[in-house]
Amino acid sequence: MNYDYNNIFAKIIKKDIKANVIFEDEYFLSFYDINPKAKIHALVIPKGCYTDYFDFYKRASNIEILAFNKGVNIVLEKLELIKSGYRIIANSGVNGGQEVPHFHLHILGGNKIGAMVNQ
Ligand code: AMP
Repeated sequence: MNYDYNNIFAKIIKKDIKANVIFEDEYFLSFYDINPKAKIHALVIPKGCYTDYFDFYKRASNIEILAFNKGVNIVLEKLELIKSGYRIIANSGVNGGQEVPHFHLHILGGNKIGAMVNQ
């Protein structure tokens, strides 16, 4: 998949579109999902141009990977999800149902999340 520089998350990174930011640093951005599927629904993204999970872990530098993984933990702590639990989802491609072609993880919590997949 070629990276689409005009995708919505690229615009959020460039601040062309506003987002409700949870935490941000040089490499990492987290914001609330506009269409929440749980009481708490955060998105976490690297600021680099990666299409999905595989692309990110294949091409990103160690610094980007470390910043991303640390960023996820910072968000989990900020949202106070450690004790109560949470689910992290990465959709990829057509079969994964990915809508936005910039790598992101969904962090869902605040209530019991339903079945892992639709049966
Ligand atoms: P996915 O299906 O994994 O690609 O998920 C994309 C997610 O991005 C969906 O849950 C959308 O609700 C969310 N989304 C799309 N546009 C925005 C936006 N402008 N701000 C926040 N979340 C968004």
